[in-house]
Amino acid sequence: MNRKLKLVILGGGESGVGAALLGKAKGYDVFVSDKGIIKENYKKVLIHNKIEWEEGQHSESKIFNADLVMKSPGIPDKVVLIQKLINKGVLVVSEIEFAANYTNATIVGITGSNGKTTTASLTHHILKQELDVGLAGNIGDSFAKQILEHDHSNYVLEISSFQLDGVHHFKPHIAVITNITPDHLDRYDYKFENYIASKFRITKNQTKEDYLIYDADDEIITNYINTNNIQSTLLPFSLTKVIENGAYLEDNKIKLTIDNNQIIMPTRNLSLQGKHNVKNAMAASTVSHLLRIRKQTIRESLENFQGVEHRLENVVKINKVQYINDSKATNVNATYYALESMESSTVWIVGGTDKGNDYTALFPFINEKVKAIICLGVDNKKLFENFGNMVDVIVETQFMSEAVKIAYKIAEAGENVLLSPACASFDLFENYEDRGRQFKDAVRNL
Ligand code: ADP
Repeated sequence: MNRKLKLVILGGGESGVGAALLGKAKGYDVFVSDKGIIKENYKKVLIHNKIEWEEGQHSESKIFNADLVMKSPGIPDKVVLIQKLINKGVLVVSEIEFAANYTNATIVGITGSNGKTTTASLTHHILKQELDVGLAGNIGDSFAKQILEHDHSNYVLEISSFQLDGVHHFKPHIAVITNITPDHLDRYDYKFENYIASKFRITKNQTKEDYLIYDADDEIITNYINTNNIQSTLLPFSLTKVIENGAYLEDNKIKLTIDNNQIIMPTRNLSLQGKHNVKNAMAASTVSHLLRIRKQTIRESLENFQGVEHRLENVVKINKVQYINDSKATNVNATYYALESMESSTVWIVGGTDKGNDYTALFPFINEKVKAIICLGVDNKKLFENFGNMVDVIVETQFMSEAVKIAYKIAEAGENVLLSPACASFDLFENYEDRGRQFKDAVRNL
């Protein structure tokens, strides 16, 4: 009798449990191992489906006889366990790679340093008007679970570099790279080139029948494309130059052309404001145009998209002051676009765990638009050093409620209060969602 192949899953989160269910359904003998504690709801699913699991440890004896290992994107390749597995010749893959084997759907893969969630959600919003499409990857229900429970004809996948590190055969028909700026370098031996190469793994198996949509204003991306042999058909987008095949901006209109078929959309009608969102809209409409969504549908969907929580989210206006939650801005580039899009004087709440930030790109905006800075972090020294001379008011606190109260006192009618931290949240908050929610609660309690 043939022995069942053994699938070991490292990490019992959304992607791990989804892959466990799919693996079991496809005939694998599945074992889930998590060094931390598995959330109750996931434990219940594993128990209910009679899938063997452990937590608080990795039992090597059980892990080393795997035929295939699926590892959560949270586990770096560097850790000893993964190195041992790789040295033994065991294939270690990500959930995206594993799950993609079990669907014939058209896959749109979206990666980049910033804008993945926004662009993926916006793309999904447009496509779903006319197609059967799932949204997965780093968003919502796992890709594996969706394939198992309700396979769609199309998927929009938000894909991080950590997921891409674990792909070998994954081949999206349409790939999007929104931008590449230094981030997560601790996972890449502090070598930016390793991180760039990881993002480009999204194109690894593409042929000329497949597409790569990317920001042509991003020199990191264009340099890589010019110096590497990318097979994909290229569809760039740009805010600064004319693009014949792809999208560009002219007279405040997006002009998008694919094989002489053009669609024109005024940017003033876009529901999401800011230059970065014009780029995200270009990327999402290029995908939609490729998949033959009607022009009118694309235009209307860009107008009525509601945005995603914690990304330049307008919370409420109090005394004509607009409060904006951009808690997801965990790096300087994201905050750059937030400040760029402010149209009036702004009280800026910033700070958290600094990831080696270089703040110089923000200086022009601070001088032009920021009237006061509220530093919200355990260690605010670097913020004071950078911005101390640039604004009249700079204060620090370790409480969100206090930060918001101070902002309330300073901001005047017509101005903004912007939470856009440029830093990770883990010094004072559970995660960026917790930080954003605390901000919104504090604002609503004013
Ligand atoms: P990701 O999923 O890549 O982290 P999000 O869509 O969640 O991206 O946005 C993260 C942060 O980056 C938010 O502060 C958002 O306003 C900002 N942002 C969104 N799109 C872009 C873009 N194209 N370029 C730069 N920053 C962006």
